[in-house]
Amino acid sequence: MSESHGRGPLLSVHGIRKGYRSGGGTLDVLRGVDFTLDAGDFVAVVGQSGSGKSTLLHLMGLLDVPDAGEVRLAGSRIDHLPAARRDRLRNTAIGMVFQAYHLLPELTALENVLAPLMVRHGVLEWLRTSAAARDTARSLLDRFGLGERLRHKPRQLSGGEMQRVAIARALVTRPQVLLADEPTGNLDEATGAGILDAICELNRRDGLSIVLVTHDASIAHRANRIVRLAAGRVEQVDPSAE
Ligand code: ADP
Ligand code: MG
Repeated sequence: MSESHGRGPLLSVHGIRKGYRSGGGTLDVLRGVDFTLDAGDFVAVVGQSGSGKSTLLHLMGLLDVPDAGEVRLAGSRIDHLPAARRDRLRNTAIGMVFQAYHLLPELTALENVLAPLMVRHGVLEWLRTSAAARDTARSLLDRFGLGERLRHKPRQLSGGEMQRVAIARALVTRPQVLLADEPTGNLDEATGAGILDAICELNRRDGLSIVLVTHDASIAHRANRIVRLAAGRVEQVDPSAE
């Protein structure tokens, strides 16, 4: 699924700073964060609520720009690119999954998964390639147990099913890296465990590089490595000490 170009940093941030204006002052959320995801690795980012986990993930996913520092993909700086090139990277190299699924309510499961491919192509190219795209989307939904739900709208799906559609949507572009922000946060424990198993399998079986944000230590332990955000900085976590 992912093309791991050997080992080495795939996605990294260097000296990232990010603050938000609030009231009269500034809230310094990230105060010089360094973080590296190697190709094929699976890293969990933990930290208390409000520690800046989502802020960091959004910066890595090019949904926001840092105040200082750099984001690099396979060694090339990507945070300062023009908007169109950032959009393009988000549509090709980076897949994102959120706690609240963010599916489009008027589209079916299949259409939601196809959406990133539709926006990528012009109309003519879409007409030419859509049959193959539909096959890809269908087989992804099949893989996640939704083969019988292709025409369901989000409101006709359970939370776990919506999240599996969202994961299929994140993967349909064949990203190099998956960024997941509390993907089981809205789900009951058993459903969340199924989603987590699916994410782990994407790393173990498919070699997909993954950053998983969670406040839950038992979830974080499914990753190969854990880093903690605290006081605006990253610290490595010794797994045996958790
Ligand atoms: P986490 O995901 O670890 O819970 P966030 O990254 O969402 O933390 O938020 C970190 C801090 O930044 C919080 O105190 C939050 O209130 C604040 N924050 C996040 N986004 C914004 C924003 N767009 N504007 C102002 N403050 C924000
Ligand atoms: Mg968050």
